[in-house]
Amino acid sequence: MKYKIALLKGDGIGPEIVDSATRVLDKTGEKFGHEFIYNSLPAGGNAIDKYGIPLPEETVKECLASDSVLLGAVGGPKWDNLPGDKRPEKALLGIRKALGLYSNLRPAKLYNALKDYCPLRLNNAFDILIVRELTGGIYFGESGRRMGINGYEAFDTECYSEPEIERIGRVAFEAARKRNKKITSIDKANVLESSRLWRETMHKLKNEYKDIEYSDMLVDNAAMQLVRNPSQFDVIVTSNMFGDILSDEASQLTGSIGMLPSASLGISSLGLYEPIHGSAPDIAGQGKANPIATILSAAMMLKYSFNLNDESECIENAVTKALDNGYTTPDIGGSLNTVCVTDKIIELL
Ligand code: NAD
Repeated sequence: MKYKIALLKGDGIGPEIVDSATRVLDKTGEKFGHEFIYNSLPAGGNAIDKYGIPLPEETVKECLASDSVLLGAVGGPKWDNLPGDKRPEKALLGIRKALGLYSNLRPAKLYNALKDYCPLRLNNAFDILIVRELTGGIYFGESGRRMGINGYEAFDTECYSEPEIERIGRVAFEAARKRNKKITSIDKANVLESSRLWRETMHKLKNEYKDIEYSDMLVDNAAMQLVRNPSQFDVIVTSNMFGDILSDEASQLTGSIGMLPSASLGISSLGLYEPIHGSAPDIAGQGKANPIATILSAAMMLKYSFNLNDESECIENAVTKALDNGYTTPDIGGSLNTVCVTDKIIELL
């Protein structure tokens, strides 16, 4: 099979880590008989330098015509003084909106080899996938300021429709089917009406997914359980704001920002895959960037956009072996550079 992938390499370490990921994809393609065709497009600071805007229309058009999008990271000190709507980061919001991406998948996995980097003393490693609703809830509800009976006040509104809850629920249940078949839906149904609708809708949905073990958890308890015993979770599904907070909490438990991939998905199989870290201008061009978050983002692309589960697992296994052998960049205690870590992962494939 042939797959067309749009590359938004971005700024700083972006081009270095995306190059690592495409080399790993090519080796995987060679092994399993697929061809990946890349189309590098401007986005972020480099697009501002060339075209005066962070997200040229042509970039959006080409992304929409691709099977999937792989993004490095955008931004850097060179563009820090630009006004908000002209900054490189605008490209991220623009592309997510243009592709209609309503779900955000963030795995948080503690590898055995990196146990010492976890801030907790844990007996068990863990492997969690957080599915966060991305385009609804309190970040998108009605908000404003007004004069109230007790004086000047501000308000934000959490609003979720049944179809919005159902579609994110389906993403989570389908993801659970590809993993350990367990879902925890996190809400605040003891207080919030929107959470009660969230829970009712998830309960209707769970009847369609009888092979998945389902449970509810209140968000305050979930925050505590994540640090008490993270290995109890497989897939977590939650609203925009709760997901924002819990995914940052979970990511810190894994020890390094250079390890964490993410996927944003919409109604079609066209997704946006990117590491959770930024463009790391402090180490750009020095060969110190850890390529693993981007390589694992490419592995997520194979799984969630192309349904190539064995190929995706093969990359994950090669990464685990590289970590077990200490083939790592300095951020996780190694002495290899970006290209050498990539070479080792390719060898292990
Ligand atoms: P950052 O994630 O770029 O860097 C934070 C720290 O982590 C730095 O010390 C950096 O060297 C290190 N780091 C990050 N990725 C690493 C990797 N792969 N390997 C080794 N070390 C790594 O965050 P920041 O410094 O706050 O932001 C830098 C720029 O990135 C800013 O312009 C910011 O707006 C942008 N940013 C972009 C995205 C994105 O494109 N999605 C996300 C966050 C920040």
